[in-house]
Amino acid sequence: MDNRYPFVLPPLPYAYDALEPDLDARLLRYHHDKHFGAAVDNLNALLAPYPVYQSWTLRELCLNWAQLPDEIAPDVRNNAGSVFNHTLYFERLHPLPPSAPSAPLEGAITRTFGGMDGLYKAMKGVALSVFGSGWAVLAVGRDGNLTILKTKNQDTVLPLEPVLCCDMWEHAYYLQYQNRRKEYFNAWWRLIDWPNATNSCKERINGLPAISYV
Ligand code: MN
Repeated sequence: MDNRYPFVLPPLPYAYDALEPDLDARLLRYHHDKHFGAAVDNLNALLAPYPVYQSWTLRELCLNWAQLPDEIAPDVRNNAGSVFNHTLYFERLHPLPPSAPSAPLEGAITRTFGGMDGLYKAMKGVALSVFGSGWAVLAVGRDGNLTILKTKNQDTVLPLEPVLCCDMWEHAYYLQYQNRRKEYFNAWWRLIDWPNATNSCKERINGLPAISYV
């Protein structure tokens, strides 16, 4: 997430129909190309008149948006957060068959949640409790332990490090699942790319002092 202006929409890392029947091609085209794509375009348009901020990384924009001029700060918050969260959402899914976390993430899941079933129940509980638009995020805390957080709108969990981001905006599921949010959550859960998620956090979970996340 050290990319900078001008931001580019990352291609979907699999074919549009690769996640069917859990997430169908029509839903993915709208979600990735239209919703995610719009956030990339909006963020570029916001920063275009402000060369001084074009050197900020995506992560820096998400963390420090409040330091931006008032006329762009709220929109940068929303659109940079959207680019950050959606990047992780799409890159940490993969076509079936289901995968499993490897050490050390598996060990951290067992320590914190008692095992995969405990994590599933905890994550599902948080995801289904999102009221309005927001995200359920499995993150690594500053102590190297896992935690599940809920964010509103497009806020990120930074400076904590996200491992998995479950998009609970209606646009993430409504075309295929309408009001059946539990079914959508279960589809997302089956599609998690656990090897990728493990790689994203193994250094932090290995117990490095939690002092230099950002
Ligand atoms: Mn979304």
